[in-house]
Amino acid sequence: MPAVAFVNEAVGSAVGELYVQKYFPQENQQQMAVLVANLRTALQDRLEHLSWMSASTKAEALHKLANLEVQIGRPKVWIDYTKLAVSPDDLYGDAQREKAFDWQRRVSQIHGLWNKSDWRFWPQYSTAYTENNQLIFTAAMLQAPFFNATADPAINYGGIGAVIGHELTHSFDDQGRETDADNRLRNSWTMKDAAQFKERADLLSTQYSAMEPLPGLHLKGDVTLGENIADLGGLTIALEAYRGSLHGQASPVLDGFTGDQRFFLGWRKSGVKNAATTTYAIWSRPTFTALEQQGSMGSYAIWIAGMTLSPSSQAKSFSLSLKNVCEFGKPPLLQGVKSS
Ligand SMILES: [Zn+2]
Repeated sequence: MPAVAFVNEAVGSAVGELYVQKYFPQENQQQMAVLVANLRTALQDRLEHLSWMSASTKAEALHKLANLEVQIGRPKVWIDYTKLAVSPDDLYGDAQREKAFDWQRRVSQIHGLWNKSDWRFWPQYSTAYTENNQLIFTAAMLQAPFFNATADPAINYGGIGAVIGHELTHSFDDQGRETDADNRLRNSWTMKDAAQFKERADLLSTQYSAMEPLPGLHLKGDVTLGENIADLGGLTIALEAYRGSLHGQASPVLDGFTGDQRFFLGWRKSGVKNAATTTYAIWSRPTFTALEQQGSMGSYAIWIAGMTLSPSSQAKSFSLSLKNVCEFGKPPLLQGVKSS
């Protein structure tokens, strides 16, 4: 095992503390809190205005949304390692003592309440996940290309905003909806509402199953349903949150791109790491196609799909065109535009 991996595994919380100090300043945490709050408001608004959902199911859903706890960047409490003896010339002994330390620490928690600071992935791992009605975004996830404190807000809403929306939506997808505000497995939906949900979810399954990213290879819409609901729902909420953050003002046009266009550029930029591979075209296509077919954001889907849906050569030009819009670290024309 490489040395870094060993240290990460043995004293991951301590490494996370150093990582957060260096790469996740307090201002970023505050900016992220605003994003999360706006995303929650957008989801609440959508739940309140769902035409097909009864008042009782809505009340349950809104209660669950209010109960979702979001942890941003770091856990509230770091693990105290002061009782773990470490020796510079006894690696094997260090490993043994760390295992014993970890065992004792876990055993001591058996009869207590669930320790919300005991994250499954420490802040230095780039991930976002939902567990026990808790949404966790690690500090390493809150970096470019997903989040940049100095970027145009539209870019951040399309990047990390869509991820926040994705995680929020998971609590209400085909599996998430089966647990209630206290994370109990309890049917809190009326039969009629559940049937209405299923009717719509089946349409999405069918839509995805019809997609053929490679000749003869179809998606399995029923198997990927939760992720597809979260992807589409998350992006939709993020766009609404972005528009809401403008408080009725028109978004400025920057480098010839409207706010909505930059939102989608931000979304695609968050996937650019895979741009040179076939995988990129395979996993990005379904969401574009679904958006296009649903019509709600179709024009943007078509607009941006032209730049992104093809393999490496066009992906490269996509990256180049993005350079002017949201070059992370040194946004050329975007300084002074902050989220509100
Ligand atoms: Zn997911």
